[in-house]
Amino acid sequence: MNILVLGSGGREHAIALKISQSPKTSKLFVAPGNAGTAAIATNIPVGVNDFDAIKEVVLRESIDLVVVGPEDPLVNGVHDFFLNDAELKPIPVIGPQKAAAALEGSKEFAKEFMMRHNIPTAAYESFTGESLEKGYAFLESLKPPYVLKADGLAAGKGVLILQDLEEAKTELKSMLLDSKFGSASATVVIEEFLDGIELSCFVLTDGSNYKILPTAKDYKRIGEGDTGLNTGGMGAISPVPFADSDFMDMVESRIVKPTVEGLKKDNLPYVGFVFIGLIKVDGEPKVIEYNVRMGDPETEVVIPRLKSDLVEVLVAMANGTLDQIDLQIDERAATTVMAVSGGYPEAYEKEKEIIGADTIEDSIVFHAGTKLQDGKVVTNGGRVIAITSFGKDFKEALQKSYQSMEKLHFDGMYYRKDLGFDL
Ligand code: AMP
Repeated sequence: MNILVLGSGGREHAIALKISQSPKTSKLFVAPGNAGTAAIATNIPVGVNDFDAIKEVVLRESIDLVVVGPEDPLVNGVHDFFLNDAELKPIPVIGPQKAAAALEGSKEFAKEFMMRHNIPTAAYESFTGESLEKGYAFLESLKPPYVLKADGLAAGKGVLILQDLEEAKTELKSMLLDSKFGSASATVVIEEFLDGIELSCFVLTDGSNYKILPTAKDYKRIGEGDTGLNTGGMGAISPVPFADSDFMDMVESRIVKPTVEGLKKDNLPYVGFVFIGLIKVDGEPKVIEYNVRMGDPETEVVIPRLKSDLVEVLVAMANGTLDQIDLQIDERAATTVMAVSGGYPEAYEKEKEIIGADTIEDSIVFHAGTKLQDGKVVTNGGRVIAITSFGKDFKEALQKSYQSMEKLHFDGMYYRKDLGFDL
């Protein structure tokens, strides 16, 4: 099969690497890709939201399957674009259609979905500019901290957690009336604060059947001890030690099953990955958020643990035969540590030469923000390279990732040395 992966991060490198290892893969393309995907596939300089250019690539390269990495093209309707085009229609796309992608594209839609299907989540109400006064009253009825969420996609920045009531009111006003997050905050969801420990659960579905992938926990803050600004993710660990089988049974029966059945009941066709952000509160799981794609950097620990042929799995998803797949998972733990550009997640410089990646042997090197320039690999983003390792437990795996990290260098490179500190 000829396969096209859309995206350019560590997630897409991890997915592409697994696809490249399948005997079913003939030609593999990544658009736009990075320096890592260039070594295992053909990069195509086309943006993930440029649907017309994607069409041209798909027809030119006789693509048989498209795998969508990031959320943006899904929320913008890339799957629908294929279904509405006579030439593209027969080509399966892994990733939900626009209507179901609203589970990530709209917090209000996701909350309503969870309410309708009795899926445990934080109590909430949503507000618009016209109901600002009601929003103030709702805030007054809650105890701090206050959780304010822009309804739409805000590049991971649209959630505010505030201790002070007056500050919460000011921020609510700025979101609703002053477009703090652009049109994404024209509606704001205010939520009950949940106190617990977070983890991520990844589900594959063909719309009727589902399979649960290994759990993972990521580390979002830039600073050690989970301090400082939020980032796209500084590393991840899989499996999550506190997600034992009793807990995962609850996740499956109370959350995964009702989610897949709910999608079906609501007539929301869904072929793809469901990323369920969970929080364990008093031993029980609740949903913090849905994402309609894999997580990054969680993919860099979850997908390497998959022993099954990923292409076979993806084809079964597209064909509605996921029930016939017996997922094989590597029992070992996997960890990934992200090397980022100095200054990230604020301003940082690009085009720093990356040295040593090819000397790393005991770990897998996944490229994120990298590109090739004059035959050299240089930085091209905030998150630059993720180093994934296996071990009998996460501590052993982490030790290997950190040892491998010592061999990697670029100007200003930073990574967290305390992953797993809370486990
Ligand atoms: P979200 O984009 O909805 O995942 O929110 C971003 C982050 O905010 C989550 O990963 C949590 O750490 C935190 N968060 C979101 N909602 C809540 C909540 N109801 N209670 C506590 N923390 C939350």
